[in-house]
Amino acid sequence: MTKTIYVPYMADHAVPMAAAMRHYGLNAVVMDEPDAESLAIGQSLCLGKECLPCFTCVGDIVKQSRKPGFNPANATLFMPTTGGPCRFGQYRALHRVLLDEMGLQAVDIISPTAENSYQGFGEHPVALRLLIWRGVVGADLLRKLRYEHRPYEVNVGETDALYYELLYALADAIETGSGSRAVGVMKEAARRFSALSIHREARPIIGLVGEIYLRANDFTNQDIVRRIESLGGEVWVATLMEWLYFTNYGALSRARMAGDAFDWLKTQAADLVQRRIEHEMLKPVASLLRNAHESPVSALMENDRPYYDPVLGTESALSIGKAIDFAKLGLSGILHVLPLNCMPATTVTGIAPKVRQDLDRIPWLDITYDAQAITNINTRLEAFIYQAREYGRRRGEGARG
Ligand code: SF4
Repeated sequence: MTKTIYVPYMADHAVPMAAAMRHYGLNAVVMDEPDAESLAIGQSLCLGKECLPCFTCVGDIVKQSRKPGFNPANATLFMPTTGGPCRFGQYRALHRVLLDEMGLQAVDIISPTAENSYQGFGEHPVALRLLIWRGVVGADLLRKLRYEHRPYEVNVGETDALYYELLYALADAIETGSGSRAVGVMKEAARRFSALSIHREARPIIGLVGEIYLRANDFTNQDIVRRIESLGGEVWVATLMEWLYFTNYGALSRARMAGDAFDWLKTQAADLVQRRIEHEMLKPVASLLRNAHESPVSALMENDRPYYDPVLGTESALSIGKAIDFAKLGLSGILHVLPLNCMPATTVTGIAPKVRQDLDRIPWLDITYDAQAITNINTRLEAFIYQAREYGRRRGEGARG
C-alpha cells in the first residue's frame, strides 16, 4: 500500500476515484486514456480471442511500464475483478502472466472484487469505498449534465470545457475527503450549467446500454455519443453507479440464499448509505436534469423477468433491464454496444428481438466492436436516428428536446 497505484482510465470516473485513494494515503495515479497505441500493443500481446477492453487494458499497462521513471518495485496495478463468468474475471490472471513474461514480477496487482461488492482495501476500506462511491456518483451526474446540454449548446466546446473543469474540481474536493465540498461542486455545477447558452430543439433521445467499458470509453466506442449528437440525437447513457448498485443487489441475493443474516445486514446498510450519498450529490443538480433519477436495480431486474432470469446475473441483466427502463421513460431508440465475442452482450442481442416486439418495436441498434475501425458506422446510425425520429412521431410524442 506504500507503492504507486496505477488506475486504468476506463472512464472519467477514474479521476475522482484515484483522488479518493489519495485522501486515504494511497499514492494513486490515473494512467493515460487508451488510444491507438494501447490497442496495437494489446493486440500484439494477446491471442486474438480476447475481448476489446482486454486489448486496451493490456496495452495501457505496457505503455505505462515503458514510461521513463517507471519503477516496477514501486508499482501496483489497480485491476478490479469479478467471479466470472465473463472474461473480466481472468483479466488479472492474464496481466500477471504478461507482466511476469516482461520481467515485471515486482509489479503488484490489487483486485477488489464484485463478488463482495468491492468491500475496499487499504487501512480504511469502508470509508475509502464510500468516498470512491461519492466520486463515481459525482462523475455520473456531471456526465448526465454534459450529455443533456452539449447537443443544444450555442457556443461549440463550451459544455465540454465546463464539464472537465468541474470533473477536476470534483476530484480536488474528493481528495480533501469532505462530502460537503463535493456537494459544493455539484452546487457550482448547477449554477454554471444553468448559465450556459442553450438553444433547445426537438431531438430523439437514444438510450445507450451495453458492455460497461465500451459504453463509457470514447476511444473504444469510437466516440459514439458525439456521433449521435452530430446526427441530431441526444444520448442518455447507463451509469457506472448502476453497476455498483447491481453488485450490492448480487451480494444481497447471495447472502439471502446462504442464510447469512450478518452479511445481508452489512450490505443492506452499505446500500442505504450509498443511496443517501447519491441523494446528497443529486439534489443541487436534479432540477437541471430530465434523466435525474436512477431506477432501482430491483426494478430493472423485474423488467428482465419475462426474458431473462436475473439470478443468472452478468451485465446481460442490466442491459436488458435498462433498455426496457429507457423505453418506459419514453426514449425513442436503444443503442446497444458490444465487443465482439462478449458473452453477456451477445446474450442480449439474442433476446433483443423479443424485447423490441413487446416495446412497440422501438428502434434498436446493436453495434459490435471488433477492434477495427467500423467503416459503416455513420450510415447505420443515420438510418437508426431516422427510425427513432419516426418512432417518436408514431407514438405521438414527437422527438423530445
Ligand atoms: S463483459 Fe464482455 S467485453 Fe467485458 S470483460 Fe466480459 S467478456 Fe469482455
